Amino acid sequence: MSALLDGIGVARAARRFAAPQQYLQGPGVLDDVGGVVAEIGGAPIVVIDVDISELFGARIEASLAAAELRAQVIPVTGPVTRGVIADTLTRVSAGQGDVVVGIGGGKAIDIAKGVAEAVGRPMVSVPTVASNDGPTASVFALYDEFGRLSELGRLPANPAAVVVDTEVIAKAPIRFLVSGIGDALAKKYEAHSCARGRGVTTQGTRPLIIGEVVADGCSRILLRDSEAAVRDALAHQVTPELEAVVEAVILLSGIGYENGGLSIAHCMTRGLQVGRGSSAHLHGYHVAYGLLVHLALEDDPEVDRDEIRSFLRALGLPTSLADLDMGEPSNAEIEALAVAAASAPHVANTWVDASVPSIIAAIEQVEKEAAIDGD
Ligand SMILES: [Zn+2]
Repeated sequence: MSALLDGIGVARAARRFAAPQQYLQGPGVLDDVGGVVAEIGGAPIVVIDVDISELFGARIEASLAAAELRAQVIPVTGPVTRGVIADTLTRVSAGQGDVVVGIGGGKAIDIAKGVAEAVGRPMVSVPTVASNDGPTASVFALYDEFGRLSELGRLPANPAAVVVDTEVIAKAPIRFLVSGIGDALAKKYEAHSCARGRGVTTQGTRPLIIGEVVADGCSRILLRDSEAAVRDALAHQVTPELEAVVEAVILLSGIGYENGGLSIAHCMTRGLQVGRGSSAHLHGYHVAYGLLVHLALEDDPEVDRDEIRSFLRALGLPTSLADLDMGEPSNAEIEALAVAAASAPHVANTWVDASVPSIIAAIEQVEKEAAIDGD
């Protein structure tokens, strides 16, 4: 896997920018999918989550038909494995696929990325939840049959377009948006970690300034608007605050990390996604807890960790392993989390010592602070 993250053949001194080519966000833009896709190709393969197909399939097909596209719609369920991607490819008709469209949550979009990689064509993301920044990124996560991360795939380019219907996002179960906030909030601290240390981005190059600047703006919007956005989404209402938070979660977070780099917060997801209890939680919940470990490890006097903890608590994001259903973790379980984190490629991005004993100490510090908060 590290070979994939070792870059794209550019010299280490070069710094490379990545972002989606087009981004469209707003209430009702699901009806614009056909028009956006028509600018890229005429015979799209549309990989759609089976549940989303039931809810919005007719509307999407009408939009594709109105744009006079010869589309083939393929409903999928996941998981995102090489096998499922190969199976999806066998369902594609001959002559189909000058562009691949992924519609749904993370699974449908990542299966679509796998199909786009195989057919060597551009990809369009249409996320129906705002649970992470995957829709804007070229990277996609592949899993083995046990649900463990097995490989990071990479498209030659970021999605040619991203279409985000905020009315659809506002109707999704709230845990998805909350997860997206947890995933996005960490990006500021991870980009700072990479810039201050000797970190490289997922493109294998040193970070550009734009990564840290965008990730910083992302975090400011989240701290300001998240509580209102979650309240509005619970009422299925699209408001300026919800629009701002959705943009932060999908676009700013994506540009922030692809150009700023990841660090300890994301390293911690390695162990949490297979941990007892924690495996059932979404990625952004893992990143939120990972961020607290990251901040405890770096112990930067500039960062107000109390503010971050109370922000996470207010949104129902975890501040302890017990919040991730890993109550009273054994020493062996804490060590396993640290070993998994220390094996992730981003671990070398921070400027502080990120050895297994240091990460264990940081986890214990976070647990101690959560216990004090709980008293
Ligand atoms: Zn993430």
